[in-house]
Amino acid sequence: MSEFRVARERMVERLRAAGLAGEAVLGAMAELPRHRFVEPALGRRAYGRDSLPIGHDQTLSHPEVVAFMTESLRLAPGQRVLEVGTGSGYQAALLCLLGAEVWTVERIAPLLDGARAAWTELRLADRIRARVGDGHAGWPEGAPFDRILVTAAPRELPPHLLAQLAHGGFLVLPLDGGGGQRLVRVRREGERAFREDLGACSFVPMRARTVGESP
Ligand code: SAM
Repeated sequence: MSEFRVARERMVERLRAAGLAGEAVLGAMAELPRHRFVEPALGRRAYGRDSLPIGHDQTLSHPEVVAFMTESLRLAPGQRVLEVGTGSGYQAALLCLLGAEVWTVERIAPLLDGARAAWTELRLADRIRARVGDGHAGWPEGAPFDRILVTAAPRELPPHLLAQLAHGGFLVLPLDGGGGQRLVRVRREGERAFREDLGACSFVPMRARTVGESP
């Protein structure tokens, strides 16, 4: 494991040098064993610059993207956060280490099972609410959320997610409006929403159909 600790420290140094996130996010990334969220055979690559396959044609985004998206949320401890697209469970675990109350929705049941196994191993499972579903619908029972993070790209801002965002809250998502994806931060002010372009990005598409069911 010390081998991975060194790799993790190097990853954090790389992210710090690139100015992608502040010390709170970097500290949490230094603590969280990213290799536990991928197949053991990919462990060595978990701290590199690649996104990694997690099965079912899905990926765990590379550390640079995770750092930047997490920082873009402007998260404070104790805030309620909805993540759409649990995938491996790494991002949700990171939000948890940052002191957020985390709700996360994944459309592919076996991925959520894998994420739960990793959280259990790391003793985070009882701090993360997770379910299988179509994230376009958000999680109405948990709303309003101070922050919402979407890790798959819809074509348009899902209206239910905006409706579940607290007033003054931030929603960060990749939008695939044709002509390339853009990472966008939306701030809700009363009934109005203000969008800020954070740059080009590349995410798997957000799909509506769920796959499998958790036991
Ligand atoms: N945040 C993840 C992590 O830490 O590993 C990476 C997410 S991966 C880039 C995007 C995920 O979004 C995939 O697991 C995919 O199945 C999921 N997804 C796509 N459309 C969805 C939807 N409508 N509702 C919920 N999850 C969705």
